[in-house]
Amino acid sequence: MTNIRQSGAHSRIFRYKNGMTLQLYDTYTRSLREFVALHPPHVGLYACGLTVYDYAHIGNLRTYIFEDILRRVLRYNGYTVTHVQNITDVGHLVSDEDTGEDKMEKGSRRTGMTAWEMAALYTHHFKNDLRQLHVLEPTIWCQATDHIPEQIALIQCIEAKGYTYRTSDGIYFDTSLLADYGRLARLNPEGQQAGVRVDMAEKRNPTDFALWKSSPPDTHRQMEWPSPWGMGFPGWHIECSAMAAKYLGPFFDIHCGGEDHIPVHHTNEIAQTQACYGTNLANFWMHGYFLQLSDAKMSKSAGEFLRLQTLLDRGYEPLAYRYYCLNSHYRSKLNFSWQGMDAATTSLNRLRQAVYEWGAAGLPDQAFLDRFQTQVNDDLNMPRALALAWELLKVDLPAAAKKATILVFDQIYGLGLAEWQPNLEIIPSHIIQLAQQRQAARDAQNWAEADRLREQITVAGYTVQDTPIGPKVRTIS
Ligand code: AMP
Ligand code: ZN
Repeated sequence: MTNIRQSGAHSRIFRYKNGMTLQLYDTYTRSLREFVALHPPHVGLYACGLTVYDYAHIGNLRTYIFEDILRRVLRYNGYTVTHVQNITDVGHLVSDEDTGEDKMEKGSRRTGMTAWEMAALYTHHFKNDLRQLHVLEPTIWCQATDHIPEQIALIQCIEAKGYTYRTSDGIYFDTSLLADYGRLARLNPEGQQAGVRVDMAEKRNPTDFALWKSSPPDTHRQMEWPSPWGMGFPGWHIECSAMAAKYLGPFFDIHCGGEDHIPVHHTNEIAQTQACYGTNLANFWMHGYFLQLSDAKMSKSAGEFLRLQTLLDRGYEPLAYRYYCLNSHYRSKLNFSWQGMDAATTSLNRLRQAVYEWGAAGLPDQAFLDRFQTQVNDDLNMPRALALAWELLKVDLPAAAKKATILVFDQIYGLGLAEWQPNLEIIPSHIIQLAQQRQAARDAQNWAEADRLREQITVAGYTVQDTPIGPKVRTIS
């Protein structure tokens, strides 16, 4: 590493003379480490994708917002990031221990679509959600089913090195053959997480996992491919090792995902890569903590989940959810609440209004920029970086300097503050009065009167929408 730090390329990376470094929390070493790119100014970043058997829920989206912030912080520090984002459209079984059905085949029965149609539909919605949340488009999107030959080649490499065995339902990885298997998750010496019961089937060790699963005899799966081991489909973990190595090489800078990936998925990605290439796949392993609903895990497979669309249906804006996520550190669990969404909406609108009123941008305030970089470079401390925006609102500086400073902050916030404009539409006062009367009727739970007033507003060519910050009137377009 020393020679990289001293190289001319590295000296171009940091924008400021004060020697500020970027510290990131690496799960593998359980420590904050100074980030030094392997090949500056380039950074390879791989993010585990959505399993597309359903819509993304807002917990999944929290993780993608964290990864977007990471990418923006790297960019802010002068790096050029190759961001690879996969889509899991095969191989993720109902249990992470490689038992049960493929989530895609199961989802196909639930929705009545083919697994292929379902993957296309939910991928489309996922990308749409990310756009609305101002998550930057990944440099490369890759899909597991488009990379079957790469996955087969990687399994062959692991097989040639002697780490595999056959069972009646596939090819498995023998985790007992890797001295430090489970290091990422600090698994106990038996290679297990405390308290986890595992269905062994024909596995030699509880943590062994499938590299290739054979299609059950006499059944046709919707997604299956020929391979040296017969018809079947890849295990869940092999896709990420294979695609990450294809696009970023067998040892790249940062691999991320949600915290649930630590004990199984990422542990096994590392095992596969160690077996074939002798590397840990990534130099940094970073994990976003979960969004929870009333202290319970939010997941697609269990119980109710909230989608971005659920928030929009309730009158919230996508960027209010982004703001909500920025307000807590990515390494702390976040309990979702509607009050929290209301507060985020109010704050975002106050910020937008203030920024708008500052008018044209001048030169940014260097002291604020330095403090901002200190916060974002401290393991992406976004709550503190966001607090600086509120300090800027109060401080005695020319409006043009404030405007320029906050627009720099927004390169990382991603709240679109430069583009925002207040609704300048002029609504006649008698329509506003009708809307106010309707609100009073609603407050008194006089629904019939509220409906009658809404009808009157509609007939006059306007529509009224109930938002968390009160009724909003617009012309019908
Ligand atoms: P999946 O669709 O289960 O493969 O998950 C897609 C991404 O969302 C992965 O990075 C998961 O670790 C992450 N994830 C799943 N559930 C949550 C949650 N409740 N909060 C935050 N991230 C999550
Ligand atoms: Zn993955």
